[in-house]
Amino acid sequence: MSTNATSSKPVRVRFAPSPTGDLHVGNIRTALFDWAYARHTGGAFIFRIEDTDRERVTDEYIAAAIDTLRWLGLGWDEGPEVGGEFGPYLQSQRLDIYAEWAQKFLDQKDAYHCYCSSEELEAVREAQRAANVAPGYNGHCRDLTSEQIAAYQAEGRKPVVRMRMPEGSTTFTDLIRGDVSFDHNFVPDFVLVRADGSPLYTLAVAVDDVMMKVTHVLRGEDLLSSTPRQIRVYQAMGVAPEDFPAFAHLPFVMGQDNAKLSKRNGEVSIAWYRDAGYLPEAICNYLALLGWSPGEDREEVTMKELTELFTVERVHSSPARFDMKKLEAINGDKIRALSAEEFFNRALPFLTRAEIISGTEAEIALVKQALPIIQERIATLSEIPPMLKFLFVKEFAVDADSLPKIADEQSRKVLATALERLTPLTDWNHSSIETALRSALIEEMGLKPRIAFGAVRIAVTGSHISPPLFESMELLGQSASLARISASL
Ligand code: GLU
Repeated sequence: MSTNATSSKPVRVRFAPSPTGDLHVGNIRTALFDWAYARHTGGAFIFRIEDTDRERVTDEYIAAAIDTLRWLGLGWDEGPEVGGEFGPYLQSQRLDIYAEWAQKFLDQKDAYHCYCSSEELEAVREAQRAANVAPGYNGHCRDLTSEQIAAYQAEGRKPVVRMRMPEGSTTFTDLIRGDVSFDHNFVPDFVLVRADGSPLYTLAVAVDDVMMKVTHVLRGEDLLSSTPRQIRVYQAMGVAPEDFPAFAHLPFVMGQDNAKLSKRNGEVSIAWYRDAGYLPEAICNYLALLGWSPGEDREEVTMKELTELFTVERVHSSPARFDMKKLEAINGDKIRALSAEEFFNRALPFLTRAEIISGTEAEIALVKQALPIIQERIATLSEIPPMLKFLFVKEFAVDADSLPKIADEQSRKVLATALERLTPLTDWNHSSIETALRSALIEEMGLKPRIAFGAVRIAVTGSHISPPLFESMELLGQSASLARISASL
């Protein structure tokens, strides 16, 4: 059988994760494309939590998923917290719906009770392996007689509900891959409901997509092979082929080593990126490029442009490679593009969380002066606390790894000269500091700037990595700067 979805109906796209941990890069790339497609078409973005496995999908992970989507700015029109006409949007609250459909399928003889035990199923698989034939259910319980059923029941066996897969094949048009066909020889009868009455993914996802009037299923390529089973459920539900949702299976996200992205070859959790100081707009911009492109080799897109430009036709079918360096570069660009006020708002939580400041008025005023001198220089917000620490430390000390760099005779001379020239300065600002140090250390002593200013930098900021030196000294103030230089001496 063959299907061809048409899209004359208002677009309804869903993001349907089963959060068994923090949402990862692949989930969010899917969510972003779902959202962008809905926004591009003026359709609805539905957020559905697939939590039928409540042992693995916990309340905590669900709350974190909601929080992550909100943080990224991927607001939904229907789903948790906002509700909607076709709710509830948590599958665990829809169990009676799945049970009703499963019963209907049994009544229609589209599905049947299967009494095979796991040992018997394993023996079948074993035999299939030995005979080198495709693994899968062998249809043993398809047409049991009432005597056989009675015998199984007398044994106390609890059946699963299995969908009958007719002979033939399923073909559908994937919006990214074109026509995709599955021979049913490789799609055996599959379980809809476990022996304990709980529904399986294939049943719940298909029932919900139909009942929530989903028109487009954009999701990861890993789910491609589940599509013929879902189509089978639509058919059993009596949905006409022209009303099936259209499918678009997004390419895998690979790590740098071309293996599927995992904790092993790259950070995958979005929560990690958030804590590491990546901006939501940078994450969205970068993830948008994983499998899609705005054209003209562009790498910068705003959320607004994404919604204007996003089309499924522009999504490639080949795997996308996750490149941490590129994400970092985009993050730096997005940081530079922030207004001073926005940058302050984003920076503040990082400074307080790292306990660099407690939030007094004087500290806030100094942070506001200091941020502009580092905004150009950082790639992630987590670089801010170590860079600005020198302005706020109560007990100043030079970093252990920078200390040896100023322990030589030359550094001693540099610091002594700097102290001597900076002490009488009456107008303490970055240009007077620079003039004084340049004339003493570069012109008179003939030193290279890196050597001369390097020693002063370590003495004053405690590290060889710091914001621009003269600005840093201006902010720190004359007496603290001089005290630190003389302490180093
Ligand atoms: N809940 C499924 C998952 O997280 C995805 C469902 C779908 O998009 O069809 O893998």
